[in-house]
Amino acid sequence: MDMTPERLDLCERIIGAARAMNASGLNQGTSGNISARWGDGLLITPSGIPYDQLGARDIVGVDWDGNVDGAHKPSSEWRIHRDILYARPETGAVVHAHPIYATAFAINRTPLPAVHYMVAAGGGSTIPVADYATFGTPELSDNVLAALSGRTCCLMANHGLVATGSNVAKALWLAEEVEALAHQYATALQVGTPVVLSDAEIDRVLEKMKDYGPRGSGET
Ligand code: 13P
Ligand code: ZN
Repeated sequence: MDMTPERLDLCERIIGAARAMNASGLNQGTSGNISARWGDGLLITPSGIPYDQLGARDIVGVDWDGNVDGAHKPSSEWRIHRDILYARPETGAVVHAHPIYATAFAINRTPLPAVHYMVAAGGGSTIPVADYATFGTPELSDNVLAALSGRTCCLMANHGLVATGSNVAKALWLAEEVEALAHQYATALQVGTPVVLSDAEIDRVLEKMKDYGPRGSGET
């Protein structure tokens, strides 16, 4: 493995985000996985290794053909990450996690509606749910890509969520926003009857959000 300073930096960003998603409660244990575009492929967390044990050399390289460069097996969901990054040149990073509230709606196969304007951070008026398929399968990747049409994130039936961004910090930010929306919606359902914002209002928010997102992470 050719560990340039640039690759080292990106591996450390991936590890930092993986630790952050567990520390914030967005994810737990060795569930979830994070990748970032690298050359003709991606760098991705290894399968089943606790994030607090990871060093930069444990992050695995995978090229567009699925050839692996690393000491470990890549995440079992490497196809989802590869397929998204290959299909979407504007995407630089992908976060997959199993957060409690978003996954609860994914278990019910209920898309998140426009009950808060921040739904627009996902690119439209709902956060859709990808159809169920067994974890780690090409079929699951196909289902996630279909659900992501016109969106930057989606839930995954009986599984979790996927969020994308131009860099690791932005993909993690979006994953946190989806979980916050799911938590807000679940709470609103308990205390009353949520009001859903109109498509016209979400269109206005989408326009305003074109340049909205986390700043100051130092990532480009
Ligand atoms: P990996 O440890 O192989 O990344 O799997 C975790 C997961 O969330 C599978 O869907
Ligand atoms: Zn998973």
